[in-house]
Amino acid sequence: MAIDLDKVHIIRKALSFFSWYLSVRLIQRIGAIYHTLTYKATPSPKNVVVIGGSFAGVELVQRLVETLPTGYRVVLVEQRSHLNYLFAFPRFAVVPGHERKGFIPYDGMFTKAPEGIFKLVRDTALRLTDTHVVLASGESIPYAYLAVATGSTQPLPVNVSSLERDPGCRELQFVQESVKLAGSIAVVGAGATGVQLATDIKSFFPEKEVTLIQSGDRVMDRFGPRLSGYVMDVLQNELKVRVLLNERPNIPPKDGVLAKMTTLTFSGGRQEKFDLVLTSTGQRPNASILATLLPAAISKATGRICVLPTMQVTSYQASETSPGNSAAAPLAPHIFAFGDVAEHGGPMMGRAGAMQAEVALQNILAMIKAGNKKKNLATLKLRTYTPDWEVEGFLHLTLGRTHHLVYAMDTKKGTDLLMGIHNGTDDLDVGKFWKRYGADVKEVEGPAEGGEQ
Ligand SMILES: Cc1cc2nc3c(=O)[nH]c(=O)nc-3n(C[C@H](O)[C@H](O)[C@H](O)COP(=O)(O)OP(=O)(O)OC[C@H]3O[C@@H](n4cnc5c(N)ncnc54)[C@H](O)[C@@H]3O)c2cc1C
Repeated sequence: MAIDLDKVHIIRKALSFFSWYLSVRLIQRIGAIYHTLTYKATPSPKNVVVIGGSFAGVELVQRLVETLPTGYRVVLVEQRSHLNYLFAFPRFAVVPGHERKGFIPYDGMFTKAPEGIFKLVRDTALRLTDTHVVLASGESIPYAYLAVATGSTQPLPVNVSSLERDPGCRELQFVQESVKLAGSIAVVGAGATGVQLATDIKSFFPEKEVTLIQSGDRVMDRFGPRLSGYVMDVLQNELKVRVLLNERPNIPPKDGVLAKMTTLTFSGGRQEKFDLVLTSTGQRPNASILATLLPAAISKATGRICVLPTMQVTSYQASETSPGNSAAAPLAPHIFAFGDVAEHGGPMMGRAGAMQAEVALQNILAMIKAGNKKKNLATLKLRTYTPDWEVEGFLHLTLGRTHHLVYAMDTKKGTDLLMGIHNGTDDLDVGKFWKRYGADVKEVEGPAEGGEQ
């Protein structure tokens, strides 16, 4: 009964979010048409540089190309050849034949942008000066405003290390092959990715022995206990995955990218050998780009970039003494950070990054406008971000081939909503997201070269 009520709430929430989103997008699109007619390319425009072209960065760039005034353009600096669709990587690391669908091309994303407003620079940003972004190629790009959306680095199988699609596919194929050959597999870390990996392996290959290992006393402990209980039931009773809680085994140095034929030592000294050990831990924020110009902005606690609710970069000390205090001073008013790299107080999720992108956008536009009118920027009233956990923290989690769930938690109210669903496609319907980014998944249907048929 409780689950049914949740279903009603979730459907109501989703409908109200999408009707709000569609009406906002309609107004934005009308504004964008007018903008296309009025924007004029100029010979030396000032740059709004966005570093990082994933879920957060692309959202900001898509809005900047619809709104920046004449005299400005947006430059996106991205090191990867494609947008890595991380949500599907646990599935594509286990199930062969779909890996190329995990890499969405950038070509179609900004085709509606007015001439001269957008430039994509395929490079790695190394560091900042007061005025320039210094790139690995040796080039540097001047900026008037800067937005850092460099996210985090996660090891295989959560993400691939290669910056190109085809070698990236080979990394995923290597995991697929290793899974196929292993009889006993340990997955270390029972967060969302670890749970998805363990349930996918057991559901696509029921003959394998799968052990999920968690350091705390429940799986998925970043979320509410109700979600942990539901997932635990699926793991143990539906799929027969062995779950070990309160265990933090030492993981010997890896032989290559994945640990094979590895003995783990558990509490009390008990040892057990696994054919394959997959780790879903080890996320590191990519904040080092600020290390030379604004080292005080990097949180000593989390390694993320500290930001004000305006998304402007602030010091660790300011955010520690007055967290969420928009009255604290920015370290550099024209430098913004958002998405998973930023300490923003909201969920580390794709939708939260999109909401923060809109805050950064409105503030950049307001500062440009005020600057053009020679207004005092220090007195400008800027927009602020307040996380909406129920909307931004909306989780879609697969629990094997056909079982999945949606979950939303409101941390302030201490309430949550949960709905289990039984259906689903092997490629997780990624085509929908390709479309959202102006691309057609049919371009890459069928396995990548070197992959299994
Ligand atoms: C398995 C899995 C499932 C998930 N499911 C959900 C879900 O259901 N819903 C949800 O909302 N979220 C989900 N998430 C979380 C979501 O993927 C992240 O919140 C999101 O990817 C963060 O986006 P981002 O743009 O901030 O950073 P990232 O996605 O980490 O991207 C950062 C980008 O910056 C680039 N970059 C980094 N450093 C540099 C540099 N120096 N120079 C140039 N480019 C650089 C990188 O190449 C990358 O493209 C999931 C994550 C995983 C792993």
